[in-house]
Amino acid sequence: MSDSQRLFDLQELDNRLELLRTERAAVDRRAADDPEQKALSRRVQELRASLSQLASRLRQEELDVEELRERAASHERALYGGSVRHPAELERYQHEIRMLRERIAAAEERELAAMEEQEQLEADLRAAEARAGDRSAELARLRAEDARRRPGLDQELRAAEAERAGLAAQLGPAPLRLYAATAPRRRPAVVRIEAGVCSGCRLPVAHRVVEEARAGRLVTCENCERILIP
Ligand SMILES: [Zn+2]
Repeated sequence: MSDSQRLFDLQELDNRLELLRTERAAVDRRAADDPEQKALSRRVQELRASLSQLASRLRQEELDVEELRERAASHERALYGGSVRHPAELERYQHEIRMLRERIAAAEERELAAMEEQEQLEADLRAAEARAGDRSAELARLRAEDARRRPGLDQELRAAEAERAGLAAQLGPAPLRLYAATAPRRRPAVVRIEAGVCSGCRLPVAHRVVEEARAGRLVTCENCERILIP
């Protein structure tokens, strides 16, 4: 087998290793924690806190309305009970009652708005709880899958690493250096010559270079510097 063919196989192994490592990293991340689940449960907490703040605001609003109503009622009793006689005092009471009614109306409006807000928050909370529950269930399913997959994944990784080491041992330092220098800059680093054309950059390869590749020598594309296999 020529060095270029070995490098091609090495490249295949590197691609496979990269996939396996990415998959294992994803498994490890999921096992550690899940940002989506964290964000969802934070949202649930926030909505619960907002709802409890709103509930105390509503209670306070109700107490205020009640107190204003009592004051208005007591003024009315005084006014219609005949205990207020002096015209200036009558006018003061009537004015006071009007003011109290306005304040009651404003407080009732605030109460209504708060109740609407409460309804919206409750709906948001139910939706957020449902999403958090779904994500938890999904995560449990994924983690169970991961737990089943993990031993095989480790085994596949070890096997691919051993295979790569064996292949690298068959190659001299010069081809390995060339591959190591090309791989970070060109993907794929090792490509076939197809009908006289470099399949990496799609430009024709000089006849002399094609002949050298066929003779088993390690050659690169003069245009894109990829390693060529015949
Ligand atoms: Zn090329």
